Formats: sequence, structure tokens, C-alpha cells
Amino acid sequence: MQRGQRTIRREIEYRGRGLFLGEEVSLKLRPQPGNTGIHFLRVDMPGSLPIPAHVGFLRGQTRRILLGRGEAEVEGIEHLMAALSGLSIDNLLIEITGREVPAGDGSAWVFTQLIREAGIVDQEIPRHLFSLSRPMIIGDDEAHLVALPHPKGMELSYRLDFGSSSSLKQSYSFSLTEETFLQEIAQARTFSLASAVEEFVRHGWGKGVTEENCFLIEKDGTPLTPLQKRPAPLRFPDEPVRHKVLDLLGDLYLTGVGLGARVFATRSGHSLNILLAQKISRLIEAQPLPHRKVDIKV
Ligand SMILES: [Zn+2]
Repeated sequence: MQRGQRTIRREIEYRGRGLFLGEEVSLKLRPQPGNTGIHFLRVDMPGSLPIPAHVGFLRGQTRRILLGRGEAEVEGIEHLMAALSGLSIDNLLIEITGREVPAGDGSAWVFTQLIREAGIVDQEIPRHLFSLSRPMIIGDDEAHLVALPHPKGMELSYRLDFGSSSSLKQSYSFSLTEETFLQEIAQARTFSLASAVEEFVRHGWGKGVTEENCFLIEKDGTPLTPLQKRPAPLRFPDEPVRHKVLDLLGDLYLTGVGLGARVFATRSGHSLNILLAQKISRLIEAQPLPHRKVDIKV
């Protein structure tokens, strides 16, 4: 049986600091009607338009995801997008009082809990999965993504391998349902190679980092806490690769639709994930409704 689109039952608010900029911001999630899609609204910038959570509004080509419309920009959205993908939330307005989405606990968990606390509502308009019509491959020998048609839903397989930067190698395969997302993926926290920390400090990033909301990986694969550099307790032995799956889920949700696809990822990060999302989005744009979302009225 085909399911309806989903939104949340009531407004809900959350305050916290973003991981990169460290500014305290408030998020308000608000229910929206069917076929509205997901939008961010900078309520601290009066008159700014809602920014669709869609690859068509991406700016820049950095490791961070940045959406913009006019003067308004929003970043640090990826783990919230993963939560929305994992819980199949189609229609939502995310009001934010600053530029960066709060880090929460560094995973998608805070957002999943917030949405579940607000309650999830099935709407009357049917939710159509967009199934790929043909295989796609992007990347190179080192890092690539292969997406195959899979009308039943989303399946992701990720192979994590840092080459000479770290000996850590992990693989994970995941079939998306709300239950599997909550149990296997939603709590996996973000991390960085210890060798990349200098670059973060140089850019002035990571101001919202705490001992608990991320971890570092040493060259020999040892996980360390980010500030005191102590051995970091992990939530899963393979938490790093699970987080890569989380990132991929969030990035692919910037297509604006639920996908029917089996995706095999090797060493891909946000920039490659986004290239696949853009490629899929072009296929979607070539299709007639109902896959395309209408813009929100303000
Ligand atoms: Zn991430």
C-alpha cells in the first residue's frame, strides 16, 4: 500500500550551537501541507525567502553543505537532513535564528528525537519514491558512487578507506526503514582524521566542538576525543562508517524526494555525494509531476 507524505504534528523548538561556527541558534520545526517540501527560513533576516532544501540552492564547493537564496544562507544542515530522510519527513519549515544548524550530539539523534517528540503525521497526498531508471556512476578509481535502480526503496553500501592517511577500513550495508535508521545509523557521530585538525583550526572552524559531539581518528585507526585527545568511547565499533552512511542519506535527500536506489559508495564525501544528488535531480526535473515539489508561499 502506498503511504502518504509526512510532516510533524506540532511545532517544536531546539537551541544549540553549530559545530563549525559555534554560535548559539534556535531552530523551530513547523508542520507544512502536502507537496510543500522542506525549507529553511532565516527568521533573523526579515524579508528573506525560505530556502528549499534542494541541490538547486547549493552554494560553494567545500566539504560543508551550504544552501543559499538571495542574502540568506544556511549551513551545517546535513545531519538534520539525514534525520528527515531516515524518518521520511517530506514537508517541513525549519526556522533558524542564525546561519548554522546546531550540532546536537554530532549525529542525527537529537533531530530524530525532536521530530518523534513533535509526532509524525501521515498526510493524504501520496509519497512517491523516485526510482532511478538507469545505473549511474560518478567519481574515479579512488572515490566513487554507483547508483542502481531499486524501486523498493533505498539501500546503501559504504566502504570507508583513508588510504595512506589512516589504516582504518570499514564497510557497512544498510537498507533504509525508519526502524533500521533509528537503530543503526541515527546515533553515529561525526568525526575527522586527526591529521585534518590543523586545517580546521587554521580556518577558525570547529568552535562548537565538545569532547562528546565528535571524535578524531589517528593514523593507526585509534579514536580520540577531540579536545583532550583521550581514547574516545565509540557508540558502535564501526561508528565512522555508519556516520558516512548517515551523511550520504542526508546529502541524497537534497534531491527533494525519497529515492528508490541501491547505492554503492567507496570513500565518497559530501562533494561527491552532492554530484550524485545533482545528477539524480536532473533526471527528476525531466519527469512530470508528482515528484517535483512546489515552492512554499510566504
Ligand atoms: Zn556528517
